[in-house]
Amino acid sequence: MSPRFRAAVSPLVHASSSRVLPKSLIGRYGRSGSQAMPGEEEKLLGIVLERLRADGGRMTKKREQVLRALLTFDRPAAAEEIRERAELPASDLVTVYRNLETFERLGVLQRVPLENGTQLFELTAPDEHYHHLICRECHKSERLDICVSHEVVRKAKAHGYSEIAHLMEVYGVCEECGGRR
Ligand SMILES: [Zn+2]
Ligand SMILES: [Zn+2]
Repeated sequence: MSPRFRAAVSPLVHASSSRVLPKSLIGRYGRSGSQAMPGEEEKLLGIVLERLRADGGRMTKKREQVLRALLTFDRPAAAEEIRERAELPASDLVTVYRNLETFERLGVLQRVPLENGTQLFELTAPDEHYHHLICRECHKSERLDICVSHEVVRKAKAHGYSEIAHLMEVYGVCEECGGRR
């Protein structure tokens, strides 16, 4: 992907944790999908469609519901929250997980592990990843403008490894939560 296109997609998924998305966003899509969507989101959807095809998959109705639900979050979200926002029944939670795995494989979603072993999910700009600062009291998360990739890759390669990935999440107590004590 050209850097220009990446830059165009990025503002959508680089949204700060304070960004408030309109509550009506999912409503605006409408079940009929008759209303136009913001351009950036269409771009991401286009990339997902393209990669799905290359991966031998296709866009199903539920898959699209999950993706559109993910687009409405401005923070990493739990699968259960994503299912609810996708307006899918509780019985579809496994389907939601399966689709999250697909989006991860397509390089547009990352898992955010919490200290208690549960996981949150977040859309990313294609092939990007983020590191977060997460409050262990209120679970608020902020993106950290830091990546240890260069050193990690170099060291892992020195061990003879390829296809290297890394995770780094930082946990603490935010100012608000600490201030209340
Ligand atoms: Zn907090
Ligand atoms: Zn990194």
